[in-house]
Amino acid sequence: MVDFEGFEVEAMVCQGCNDETFTVQQSKKLFHLMNKYKLFERRRKIIKIGSSFAITIPRALEETGWKPGAIVSWTRINNKTWKIEVE
Ligand SMILES: [Zn+2]
Repeated sequence: MVDFEGFEVEAMVCQGCNDETFTVQQSKKLFHLMNKYKLFERRRKIIKIGSSFAITIPRALEETGWKPGAIVSWTRINNKTWKIEVE
């Protein structure tokens, strides 16, 4: 099992150099996960709602806790990078 963007997925790992490769079947599972969580659509435009700004979140993230009413907190990494976590 290897970590791929926070998902634990099966992979073939070389005992010599730790290089990770996926079989066709493993790739299909990974592709399914990435498609499910919209990881092929990583960009969003900031929209204006009243006097606030907002970013929409793919509906598929609902089951992971990203849903209306959830509390999120953020940490500034630098001006362009912020880490947002659902509590
Ligand atoms: Zn190797």
